[in-house]
Amino acid sequence: MKSIAIISLFVIAGAIVFVLHWASTPSSTLKLSPTNLFGVKQENQTEVFIASDVSQAVEQGVKETLAAAVKSWGSSGHLEFWVLGKDRTAAEKLAAAFCERRVARGDMTERDCLDDSDNKDHGFLMYQELGAEALSSGQPRMDAANNGGAEWGIHRLTSSLPLGFSGSLGIAGEGDQLTILHEYWHSVQRSFLQTQDQNLSQQLMGPTWFVEGSAVAMAEITSAKLLASGELSKWNNSPRPWPSLEERMTNKMKLVQQWRKKCQSLLPESYGGECTQMAYESGGWAILYLMKKFGGDVLRKSFYPDVERLGWGKCLLPPQSVNATATAESA
Ligand SMILES: [Zn+2]
Repeated sequence: MKSIAIISLFVIAGAIVFVLHWASTPSSTLKLSPTNLFGVKQENQTEVFIASDVSQAVEQGVKETLAAAVKSWGSSGHLEFWVLGKDRTAAEKLAAAFCERRVARGDMTERDCLDDSDNKDHGFLMYQELGAEALSSGQPRMDAANNGGAEWGIHRLTSSLPLGFSGSLGIAGEGDQLTILHEYWHSVQRSFLQTQDQNLSQQLMGPTWFVEGSAVAMAEITSAKLLASGELSKWNNSPRPWPSLEERMTNKMKLVQQWRKKCQSLLPESYGGECTQMAYESGGWAILYLMKKFGGDVLRKSFYPDVERLGWGKCLLPPQSVNATATAESA
C-alpha cells in the first residue's frame, strides 16, 4: 500500500509539473479540413440561447467561457448552447424557439421537434426540472450534455441552470466554467469525425474512460491556465476558495485510490454502474500521463486528426506499429 501511495505521489508530482509548464505555453492554431460536417471556420461559431428566467450574468458566463474555449482549442464548428432555468413556462417557450429554428432551417418537422422536446431524457423540460429541484431542495446539481446535432451540421448542447453563474447555493462560478469547457471539449472531439453514423462515431471516439478522461483533463488544465491569465473571470462567489489544479487533481487521485478496491477496472470502457465515475477521475489521470509522454497537444494535433482514418485502437499505437499493421492487412 505504501509503495502504491509513493508511486501515486510521483505520478501526481510529475504530471502537475508538466501540466503547469504546458499551461504557461501558448497554443498554436490548428489546421482545419476544408470540408467539414460542422462547417468549421477559424472563428467563434458558438451561439447561446437562454430561457427567459435565466439572468444576464449566466448568459455572460456561458458566452465568456465558450469564447475562451474556442480561443484555446479552436472552433469545433456550428454550436448551439441552450440554457434552461427553473421556470417551466420559460422552458416551454425556449423549446418552442428551438423548434422554430429547426423548422426554419429544414432540420425537422414541427411535429417531430415538439415530440423531441417532450422527451424526458434529453428534452428541455428534464433540464428545467433538474435546476428547479436543485434550488427547491438546496441540493446543488447541474447537468449539461452534448446531445448530438451532427445530422443538422451542428453541436447541440443543453444545460440545466448553472448554479455558480446564477449565484445560487454558494456554488462557485468556476465550477460552471469547468462544466462548459468539458462539454465544449466533447464537441472538439466530435468535430474531427465526418461520419453522421452515431454508432461509428462513438466507436471512433474510443472507450468511456478516454472520451471522458480527455474532457476532464483538458477542462482542468485549460481552466487553470485561463483563470491564471485572466482570460476567464474569477467568480469568488463561494464561501470556500476555488481549489488549485494541484488540489483538484490530488483529490481525484484520492478517489481513485478509494474506488480501486471495489471497481473491477480503473478505466471503464462503457457508461453505467457505480464505477462509471472512475472513467472521469482515473481517465483524467490517464490522459495527463498520455500528455506527459507525447505533449500537451497530442490529442488535437496528432490523435484526433488521424482517428477516423486509423480507428481508435491503431491511433494509439506508435507509427511503426501502424505501418506494420497496415502492410499486414493489405497483404
Ligand atoms: Zn463528458
